[in-house]
Amino acid sequence: MNRNILLTPGPVTTSKTVKSALVVPDICPREKEFGDLFESVRTDLLKIVSGEEDYTTVLFACSGTGAVEAVLTSVIPKSKAVLIINNGAYGLRMQQICDAFEIEHIDYNLDWGSPISLEKVENILEKNLNKISHLAFVHHETTVGILNPLEAISKIGEKYKVEIIADAISSFAGVPINLKKDPIHYLISSSNKCLHGMAGIGLVICQTKALEKTKDYKVLNFYFNLYSNYVFQEKKKQHQFTPPVQIIYALRTAIDEYTTERYAHYKTLYQVMLEGMKELGFLPLVAPEHHSKMITAFFEPDLKGFGFEKMHDFLLEHGITIYPGKVDQKNTFRIANIGELTLEDIHFFLEKTRNYMHSIK
Ligand SMILES: *Cc1c(COP(=O)(O)O)cnc(C)c1O
Repeated sequence: MNRNILLTPGPVTTSKTVKSALVVPDICPREKEFGDLFESVRTDLLKIVSGEEDYTTVLFACSGTGAVEAVLTSVIPKSKAVLIINNGAYGLRMQQICDAFEIEHIDYNLDWGSPISLEKVENILEKNLNKISHLAFVHHETTVGILNPLEAISKIGEKYKVEIIADAISSFAGVPINLKKDPIHYLISSSNKCLHGMAGIGLVICQTKALEKTKDYKVLNFYFNLYSNYVFQEKKKQHQFTPPVQIIYALRTAIDEYTTERYAHYKTLYQVMLEGMKELGFLPLVAPEHHSKMITAFFEPDLKGFGFEKMHDFLLEHGITIYPGKVDQKNTFRIANIGELTLEDIHFFLEKTRNYMHSIK
């Protein structure tokens, strides 16, 4: 099989062993053998974020957005509202989910890529103390590669007694998160970003105490009911509905291959990528102090003959996939350095990008 290099923010490049793990003998997911695997995945995901004691994992057969929808439609009491911080497309998406289900939300909107003002967050909470029960934010806003301050937001949650919902879809298993130190009530991710698994599993790491409170909530969902899925998974050690069996085998392997060195490795890849891109005349959008070092939005250069689509197609012929930008009004494109990548991959990408740039001069 050819090895492709995905410099996209997910699905990411996977290892050979993760790909091979998809090929398993047919098995009924109601059998104990599969139940044991399912249970081990739920437990080991907790270990990645030091949540073994106070947390439980709920798995869904969906992409990341499904897991976000599951949380928003399951945990906010009817008379309350959620404060949603939006400094990128995924913050906006949480607002759109709430709109679709008529869940009351108070928005703190920033320019995409701008850092959150914690003072402003506190002001909004102070003004709406009796109304806001939850604060939702995106840990790593993949739109532009900005890393929002999980630790500080967790502290604010404690101070104002609001529960925190974090979309950590593109940071979980990449950026270190310690739920013992920084409690987050609902931490959401998916199998196919920094976990390096295949797409198809949305997951929620729930603080058990918080989740138990939602037991009798009138919710706006069925398939995505967080509490009922939790009870089923906890009691039966099975997925309530049909799970993507092979994807879970691949996820098991991906978890086995996870190491705490991952973020350090990403940062090395990022440094080399950034230096190389700067040499070629590309400038990054987000200031280094707020940047995640996992995905970088670059301005398209003002060069006659340059076209993102053309560069994309040129690189694709060499097995490299890059990603368009997601910021209105600004012409950007994105290079992610997550996934099962090596320094050689980054050097290869830089070499091919150099070739493309020479070809248009
Ligand atoms: C990728 C991503 C999502 C959406 O995930 P899908 O798997 O495309 O549904 C949501 N939030 C963030 C921060 C992401 O990076």
